[in-house]
Parts: sequence; structure tokens; C-alpha cells
Amino acid sequence: MNATQVLVLNSGSSSLKYQLLDMPAGRRLATGLVERIGEDGPGRLVHTPAGTNGDGDGDSGRRERELPLPDHAAALRAAGEELAADGLGLDSPELAAIGHRVVHGGRTFTEPTVVDERVLAEIERLVPLAPLHNPANLAGIRTALAINPDVPQVAVFDTAFHTTIPDHAACYAIDAEVAAEHRIRRYGFHGTSHAFVSRRTAELLGRRPEEVNVITLHLGNGASAAAVAGGRCVDTSMGLTPLQGLVMGTRSGDIDPAVVFHLSRVAGMSVAEIDELLNSRSGLRGLCGDNDMREVVRRMDAGDTRARLAFDVYIHRLRSYLGAYVAVLGRVDAVAFTAGVGENATRVRTAAVAGLDALGLAIDERLNTAAVRGPRLISPEYARVAVAVVPTDEELEIATQAFALVNA
Ligand code: ADP
Repeated sequence: MNATQVLVLNSGSSSLKYQLLDMPAGRRLATGLVERIGEDGPGRLVHTPAGTNGDGDGDSGRRERELPLPDHAAALRAAGEELAADGLGLDSPELAAIGHRVVHGGRTFTEPTVVDERVLAEIERLVPLAPLHNPANLAGIRTALAINPDVPQVAVFDTAFHTTIPDHAACYAIDAEVAAEHRIRRYGFHGTSHAFVSRRTAELLGRRPEEVNVITLHLGNGASAAAVAGGRCVDTSMGLTPLQGLVMGTRSGDIDPAVVFHLSRVAGMSVAEIDELLNSRSGLRGLCGDNDMREVVRRMDAGDTRARLAFDVYIHRLRSYLGAYVAVLGRVDAVAFTAGVGENATRVRTAAVAGLDALGLAIDERLNTAAVRGPRLISPEYARVAVAVVPTDEELEIATQAFALVNA
């Protein structure tokens, strides 16, 4: 019998998220989160076996413990113990592949890739482009390789879906030699999500991905938009780093680059301070003090003017990108909202398309506010462009890509 399980690992600098899925159906066998890796004090592990409610409420099978977690190897071993307790495991003959989320694949990795020494070296070479993420991703891969060298390890890159973006959309208008030497261009992120959601949106329309043009709006804590023409990405709002584009929870998105020089010259801030300002103290949090859209909307409704401004700036930027991508695509068949804000914030969806009837965009408020989960259309029958809510599932997409690759 062929092995059908895929373990998906998403390693952050101090955390490790894992999911074990049975493929090709994508049934979840277990999910878990290991936190506070390499920090002072004990680490924490939460493991949720299948059949329990992964959302956390009242799930009897959920197990939680504190334990010493000096590094990623300890974290993965602890996850392995939890899986083993459920009769699953890192060394199970059922395991077909381990799929790793890797943030930066540069221009090298356009597809999911089976990891070998050459691939590891290339991910390492890309560290300057993603100094926080790629080292953590590498630690996860190296650890998994050490624990089970026999099962194929597949790297799935956040940037891969965007490697089809043409040069005219990916190049910044700066000195070409400097750009080439330092590999400066638009790479884009959240690619796994944009790929998954654009394909699901086509399914929702009963069409093949090659037949439809979709604008996907991934609005989570980080946020990005993508223009997808016939299943291929042609533009996205994030750039060299995930700082560019939409207003996010704590990141500024687009600003005049001269703001950086100004802060340096006039405010005397260091590069590290400006980096921290734009990544962690900007976006919704910078504008009003809260980075959670639920809180922003609640305060706005209570008459708070800072929260109102934060919401309005967020929406203005979102609409600007929406309009830009209508022009980039020429013909748009659907706009899809996804991730925490996109899937849940009815007010954001309403405001994003309000008054855009001339572009063929409209929302049916009854559908928009209906308590429904799962992929759904929220535009009225008559609208020329479908507006959809499509929950993203990056782990399932990574498992799907990894499973397809090892069975190819
Ligand atoms: P991440 O980018 O960390 O994966 P998510 O996609 O889970 O984030 O999105 C998290 C964000 O989604 C939260 O910070 C919050 O702003 C927003 N969010 C979650 N639920 C709701 C809701 N019911 N209404 C409005 N916003 C929500």
C-alpha cells in the first residue's frame, strides 16, 4: 500500500506549527503548535488530534504541556512524541512526505522542490532576502532530515506562485545594475494562499483556473493582493519584502521611500529603528493603537475618530489596489476575499467594493452577512464580477503540492 500521509511544517523563529494530513482527500489527522522555542523559560506545546475541534473550544482530545525547548530539534521531537501517542509519527511507513513552508525562494524556486544539499544551500543563499524567516525554515528542514532522512522533504515556497509575474510588474525603476547585484525586485509573498484561493474561486464559478481572471485579497495580520490571469499570477502587492502594499495589522505597506531618509536625517533614527517602526508600529496599530480589525471596527462604531481613520486608510489602500488590478487584468471574473479579515470582516468587504458598480462589482448584503462558512459567493446575481469569500488553507495546499510531487 502506498503511503498517503503528509506532515506539513511551518517553522517560525520561535514557533513550529504542524499538521498531519491524509492525502489526497486532505483529511486532518492532527494539528499542533509548539511555541517559545529557544526563549527563556519553558516552551509550550498544544496538540489536537483528529476528531476534536481544532478551533479550540471544548475539544476533549486536546493536549497541552510545558517543556524545555532549547531549539527546533527539541520542538520537532516533542511534536513527534505527541503524534506517536496517537499512533501516528515521524517515522511511520504511512508518511509519504514532509512538506515545509519556506518563505523566500527568490527567482530560483518556481515549483515545490524535493530538498537535497543543493536546495538547502540555495535557501541559505537567499537568507539576506528573508533574514528572519529563511533561517527558521532551514532549521525546521534540517531537523526533520535528521529525524527521518528516508522520507522525502518537500520545500513549498511563499514566493513560487509569483515567479510568473512579468518583469514590467516585478522590476523597480531603480539603477538596473544595483538592482541586479542585490537581487532587488518584487518577489511577493502569501503565494501558497493566492494559488489555493484563486483555484478554489474558479471551482466556485464552475470553471477551470485557466479560464478565469481573479483578484485575490489575502487580508490577515499580513495582507496582500494578487492579480491572477488564467491561473498565473501577473502582479502582487508585496515586494522585495512583505512590507510593501496594503495597510496591514502592524506594517505600513506603501509609503514614500523618502520617509526613510527623512526619519534618518531629521529624526536621527537608525535603520533598525525605522525597520521596527514600519514593520511593528505601523499599519492599523500605528494609526489607532489596535492591530485587530475586530477592535478597530468596534471602536469606530463607538465613535472613536482614530479607529475611523485607521479603517478608512485601510479601505482606501485596498480599493486602490483593487482598481489597479482591474486595469492590470483588463477583464476580471471574480474578486476573492480570504484570511482572518477577508473571511470574517463583513464591513471591510462592504467598504472595499462600495460604489464600484461601474466596474461590475457589487455585494448582496444578505449573502455578505449570512453566518456561513466555506467558499461562497456574496455578489448579487446580476453583478458582472463575482465577489467571493474563500477560506484559505495554506497547510492543505502545501500538503497537496508535496503529495503531488512525490507521486509524480
Ligand atoms: P495571520 O496573518 O497571522 O495568519 P489571520 O489570517 O489569522 O492572520 O488573520 C488574523 C486577523 O484577522 C486578526 O488580527 C484580526 O484582525 C482579523 N480577524 C479575525 N477574526 C475577525 C473577525 N471576526 N472580524 C474581523 N476581523 C477578524
